[in-house]
Amino acid sequence: MTKIRTRYAPSPTGKMHVGNLRSALYEFLIAKHAGGDFMLRIEDTDQERFVEGATEIIYRTLEKAGLKHDEGPDKDGGYGPYIQSERMKTGIYMKYAKELIDKGEAYYCFCDKERLAGLKTEIVEGKEIMVYDKHCLSLSREEVEEKLKAGVPFVIRQNNPTEGSTTFHDELYGDITVNNSELDDMILIKSDGYPTYNFANVVDDHTMNITHVVRGNEYLSSSPKYVRLYEAFGWEVPVYVHLPLITDENHKKLSKRSGHSSFEDLIEQGFLTEAIVNYIALLGWSPEDNREIFSLDELIKEFDYHRISKSPAVFDIVKLKWMNGEYFKAMEEEVFYNMAKPYLLKALGDGFDLRKIAAMVKTRIEIFPDIAEQVDFFKELPEYDIQMYTHKKMKTDAASSLEVLKEVLPILEEQEDYSNDALYQRLLAYVEQKGCKNGYVMWPIRTAVSGKQMTPAGATEIMEILGKEESLKRLRIGIEKLQG
Ligand code: GLU
Repeated sequence: MTKIRTRYAPSPTGKMHVGNLRSALYEFLIAKHAGGDFMLRIEDTDQERFVEGATEIIYRTLEKAGLKHDEGPDKDGGYGPYIQSERMKTGIYMKYAKELIDKGEAYYCFCDKERLAGLKTEIVEGKEIMVYDKHCLSLSREEVEEKLKAGVPFVIRQNNPTEGSTTFHDELYGDITVNNSELDDMILIKSDGYPTYNFANVVDDHTMNITHVVRGNEYLSSSPKYVRLYEAFGWEVPVYVHLPLITDENHKKLSKRSGHSSFEDLIEQGFLTEAIVNYIALLGWSPEDNREIFSLDELIKEFDYHRISKSPAVFDIVKLKWMNGEYFKAMEEEVFYNMAKPYLLKALGDGFDLRKIAAMVKTRIEIFPDIAEQVDFFKELPEYDIQMYTHKKMKTDAASSLEVLKEVLPILEEQEDYSNDALYQRLLAYVEQKGCKNGYVMWPIRTAVSGKQMTPAGATEIMEILGKEESLKRLRIGIEKLQG
């Protein structure tokens, strides 16, 4: 059996978006699931779209996401160079283009801009596409030689038949057949000497021994032309897996405007790498059971690409947040503390037991920035309405709360030990003596020391963090407020 080899072949044109990361992840998983190799190839032949620094983003993202490549520009595996502009310098694309010309499967085209501008156009998938009329196909060998010698700029075009049909197979979409008359004579080599993506992807995937090609389904419509190239060369066509579109919540194509679609943006928004990778794995793929939480190792074990779905996947930030929260819950306390610390420091500054506060919020936040809103009351008692003392289930109201606070104040003034346990025991004794429910006492105390309806911890845990002086101060403020 041949070893499975997949490749992630990004164009360095900017940030790495969710769709890019999904392609990389699926290629990685398909290879690793089968004990194969995952390769990185940089497709920088479109000089106009090249963005400085974009290659670094690709390296950074793959590394952070744990998608270790076995081969790539920085890791020779014998199939290099791994950057298309460097491959071009070896003459590989020109060599294969000439082979096609010799076979009658490609031809030089010397048409200038003016002539091309006069050709008729067709609307293909919403885009206006120029249909080349094979004008230069009729040039004789001598005419071509002459023009080449004279230095007339040229491109090399694929020579597609105008009759018959071409069929290719995609693992998800099945057999797809198109009429050859629909295949335009696409450019293989551009006038700047660079190959087009359309040509380079075929030459590279073949010469780099790629067995499985995974990419967005925007390439589906061009694939018959690629298949014709493979056939012209007499090469084996790789397994194609074209991935479904990713949409936003409104079922619109995910775009930069959706705001949350780049990996590094998501990290900046406070998401965990593991959660992002886990969530992205499920954008189009699902396991046999309904399980949703997967580590990367577990994904490698479970990932069967036959279970990828054709229907568009919805990128749902609410779901991603939920998943992120699940990762926080499962995280070891110390690991969480170290990651949460910068956010805690930003919200509270020094002077608090941040370790304890981290443990309080760990199960209550979905992304790191949620921390601020959870803990801000420690730093400063917020303005609050005494309406908050009224709680139906606890059977408390302003009057009952005032009574309780006035009674516990001297007890808490006397209390020396402000540890959570000691405070709790002391208040429990008061509850018993009073013969009421816990909440009847704890609710007004918690309200007074936090000024909030919802807090990440109970009254005595909050008092432990605040300390005696601050706790008493807040209880007195509560009494004053309740007294009107
Ligand atoms: N360079 C192409 C892109 O970034 C890769 C498509 C492919 O995987 O073949 O879209």
